Amino acid sequence: MKTDPCSQSSLLHPDEAIVKLLEQVHPLYETEVVQLSDALGRVLAEDLASSIDLPPFNNSSMDGYAFRFEDLKDNQTLTMIGHAFAGHPFEGEAKPNTCVRIMTGAPVPAGYDTVQMQEKTLANGELIQIEAPKGVGANVRYRGEEISSGGKVLSVGTLVGAAEMGVLATIGVSQLRVSRQVKVAFFSTGDELRPVGTELAPGQIYDSNRYSIQGLLSRANVEWKDLGVIEDDPEAIRQAFRTAAADADMVITSGGVSVGEADFTKQILDEEGEITFWKLAMKPGKPFAFGRIGEAVFCGLPGNPVSSMVTFYKLVWPLINKMKGLPQAKPVQLQAKLAGDLRKFPGRVEYQRGILSTNAQGEAEVSITGGQGSGMLTSMSLANCFVILQQDQGDTPAGSLVTVEPFNSVLC
Ligand code: AMP
Ligand code: MG
Repeated sequence: MKTDPCSQSSLLHPDEAIVKLLEQVHPLYETEVVQLSDALGRVLAEDLASSIDLPPFNNSSMDGYAFRFEDLKDNQTLTMIGHAFAGHPFEGEAKPNTCVRIMTGAPVPAGYDTVQMQEKTLANGELIQIEAPKGVGANVRYRGEEISSGGKVLSVGTLVGAAEMGVLATIGVSQLRVSRQVKVAFFSTGDELRPVGTELAPGQIYDSNRYSIQGLLSRANVEWKDLGVIEDDPEAIRQAFRTAAADADMVITSGGVSVGEADFTKQILDEEGEITFWKLAMKPGKPFAFGRIGEAVFCGLPGNPVSSMVTFYKLVWPLINKMKGLPQAKPVQLQAKLAGDLRKFPGRVEYQRGILSTNAQGEAEVSITGGQGSGMLTSMSLANCFVILQQDQGDTPAGSLVTVEPFNSVLC
């Protein structure tokens, strides 16, 4: 059987690595108050209760007629005595054998208990015939049926997404207390790297990691600081680490953590902080460094562009989430049918990049995004999921069921 030349029993399984890494970070304890309009992506630092009932009054869920259900015993035809519009309640009094024309969201006038939808009525001037009535209370949304005043609506640790923004507005919250933003400083290392907007000399490449990392940090909704490209020079790297750690909760670098290259990062972090080099049983992303510099947590990502994204995604993102005060949630995974044959050497957990779709039979189907080299960043761009293949798994034929993890859309 073919085996991965990199396979070693000393490699650490990524699931174990995540557990060990999470033990090393803690939620930030500082909080701040933000306006509701600035709250998207923030994490609630306190439970939030409603000061009002929701709905605040009994109202109609239909356009139709409000009436007293008991009146139908004698007569299915009622006399319309007024109107209730959303924002404009009926101001008269409910009387036996009468009804009020009512619109969706309008208060159900006191004394009436039921709404008949317009489509099931016959109108003859002011006389309204009720056809096939449903029952007492039909089409009424009751005061407090969703939330009652004083009741908890959102819990500490909730990520504020689009729905939460709306829920908070519904109960009249204009400001809320959230965990303060996690601050992350990052830089790339490598003499071969040039920033975009400059010409490449022979042997040089553009620095792409800073942009993919910036994108991931923005998606993770942290406050980030880009410190640029730092050459492979001990003093430049030392200075960059000091600047980065001065005002950050986390420092992220890419490059310079694989064998033979780690010396500067290792040397400097041994002097200025602490560092451990990890060899992970994952592909892409075998080398990974973790440590501390000053008060900041340090994550050293491998330089290969796909490796840096995958290690960020699988290892760094959970750390950021913990620092933000979010509860740890296992990523959603599902089984999908493999559209073509898949190549894999047993040895490491692989995160191949896939395109998940629904096939003509309505089944979840996944295809691999072509070349899977750890430098081929287009494989991430084409993908909408990881195809996760366990350590001992080898080549896998088309039609097999494989584990798929859709990319996190971050905020609902
Ligand atoms: P390293 O981890 O520094 O050994 O780099 C591994 C590979 O990733 C090399 O081919 C580097 O040129 C490439 N690489 C490192 N950093 C970057 C970066 N910021 N952007 C694009 N490629 C990079
Ligand atoms: Mg390098």
